[in-house]
Amino acid sequence: MAKQRISYILPVYNEEANLKAFHTELKKVTKSLSKQYTFELLFINDGSKDASLSILTELQKKDTSIMIIDFARNYGHQLALTAGIDHATGDALIIMDTDLQDPPKVSAQLIEKWEQGFDVVYAQRNSRKDSWFKKISADLFYRLLQQIAEVEIPKDTGDFRLINRAVADQVRNFREHNRFMRGIVSYVGFTQTAVRFDRDQRFAGKTHYPLRAMVRLAKDGIIGFSTTPLKVISRMGYFIAFLSVVAILYVLYVRIFTPHVAVEGWAFTVISIFFVGGVQLIMLGVLGGYIARIYREVQGRPLYGVRSIYRINANNKKT
Ligand code: UDP
Ligand code: MG
Repeated sequence: MAKQRISYILPVYNEEANLKAFHTELKKVTKSLSKQYTFELLFINDGSKDASLSILTELQKKDTSIMIIDFARNYGHQLALTAGIDHATGDALIIMDTDLQDPPKVSAQLIEKWEQGFDVVYAQRNSRKDSWFKKISADLFYRLLQQIAEVEIPKDTGDFRLINRAVADQVRNFREHNRFMRGIVSYVGFTQTAVRFDRDQRFAGKTHYPLRAMVRLAKDGIIGFSTTPLKVISRMGYFIAFLSVVAILYVLYVRIFTPHVAVEGWAFTVISIFFVGGVQLIMLGVLGGYIARIYREVQGRPLYGVRSIYRINANNKKT
């Protein structure tokens, strides 16, 4: 039987100080598994401004399993992963950072779980060695996402994961622009399981996810997988409209029973501010409801995913 093929999807952005060490570590894993599998190391150079590309081409001379997709500019981590998934030929794809934060050793465990029949195996962090700020903001983000996203997105899980061919084919159908790959992988379903691991420190260099990039990713995660923010607007509208009724009663009370404290014209001004504000927000909420639906359609996502089709025999057309 032909060996199964495993593709590593490896995004690279200014990782010159990490690539050699990373490659050495990864090779240890692939060598130990070379009896059962063939490997493809798909590096996506996401417009690095340092020597990353020349290091990769250098490595490629000695390692024919390396393939490099070189982006014309920096498109960002999520699009680098997308290009990797689009080009990978493996039966299973493993997505992993190239800064040694995702230990290559763990990928062997992902493969084991896949062999047990899981379609998606994500690596879930027991602990992370990052700054306290990164830890707290990541924690808040995962909590918020769990609360409001329409699909279950596992917490403490980055992009480090294995997906099988069927999932990869399904994920490739998602062509939205502001993408949050973890959300998409959760969204397609299939059988998913976790492997726990300890996330290491970066081997060298510093994170490419400063606050600004994290906020953008968080936004893509939330807006891409939830219409809750739109619903919040109309809820606020109803709340303010309710407040305006209370305010109107209060103003009338003051006007009628204690007219000496009321300034001329005050009642009318206050009532109209509350009332108009409430009405506007309710209307915005209604608009939001429609926009949410338009948005769903414009995203043009596939409507469902087929895992496989069972046929009794090849001649039986009716399945
Ligand atoms: N990366 C990328 N393009 C970017 C930013 C990052 O391809 O614009 C890669 C980077 O080389 C690394 C991975 O994506 O392999 C994760 O980035 P980073 O380590 O900076 O994120 P963190 O681990 O701090 O969340
Ligand atoms: Mg990293």
